[in-house]
Amino acid sequence: MTGAGRFAPSPSADLHIGNLRTAILAWLFARSTGRRFLLRVEDLDDRTFSDVAARQVADLAAIGVTWDEPPEYQTTHQDRYDAVIADLTARGLVYECYCSRKDILQAPRAPHAPEGAYPSTCRDAPRRTHPDRPPALRLRSDTFSYTVTDLLHGEYTGLVDDFVLRRGDGVPAYNLAVVVDDAAQGVDQVVRGNDLLSSSPRQAYLAALLGFAAPMYAHVPLVLNAEGKRLAKRDGAVTLADIGVERAVHEIAVSLGFTATTPDGMLDQFDPAALPTRPWIYQPS
Ligand code: GLU
Repeated sequence: MTGAGRFAPSPSADLHIGNLRTAILAWLFARSTGRRFLLRVEDLDDRTFSDVAARQVADLAAIGVTWDEPPEYQTTHQDRYDAVIADLTARGLVYECYCSRKDILQAPRAPHAPEGAYPSTCRDAPRRTHPDRPPALRLRSDTFSYTVTDLLHGEYTGLVDDFVLRRGDGVPAYNLAVVVDDAAQGVDQVVRGNDLLSSSPRQAYLAALLGFAAPMYAHVPLVLNAEGKRLAKRDGAVTLADIGVERAVHEIAVSLGFTATTPDGMLDQFDPAALPTRPWIYQPS
């Protein structure tokens, strides 16, 4: 089986031009390397937003992104995540954590623990600070950092702490779901916004623990608003419904330095080394 690239939106809001641009880039990376392309709706958090998910899928089709299998929905394969958590638990790599967000913020940090790391409060003996609440499950990791290779960022070393595998409410955590699904779907190329670069060491470390090969990563520049903040729906006319397919695809193509203004034309001109490395500032008109 050939490898695959993918786009994996969370159905929390309609896709805006920044999300659509990332989707086109993921598609270009996959197609230009002879990979299959897959769509995965990451609906574990947003279970009730199926109308949003349907619009996201329709919008991607409208701008000319194509995929090779029906879109997958994370909520339909809870068993995948449960099986991996059972495996890690049997290997002694999972522990219960009762900490609230506040507990974690207020916990003293171990002398060598890097900033932002879970302070491992419950690692050796779960502290039932909130016994009425079901615990989250955390990974017992044996490192503080891990290095991934990114096509646009080179070698990137980032934090790996005892991150959450399953939340207290029973929902599989993003880092677990993404790794399990990429492996199950044969994804070996992960192209996504560079806001997720710092999550990739945790994910690659978990993949290695599970015996999966790390995918090849490309974390692409985000689209920002005039204030330099990540573009969001509240910035105004930013979705396909607002600006129309033709204009959206055209603006995306221009922002990426293409003269072609269709996905197939962009594919002919695609050169990852020539991609802009700075964020695109988008000013809705
Ligand atoms: N679902 C995530 C998001 O929409 C992206 C996950 C990924 O590409 O790994 O931010």
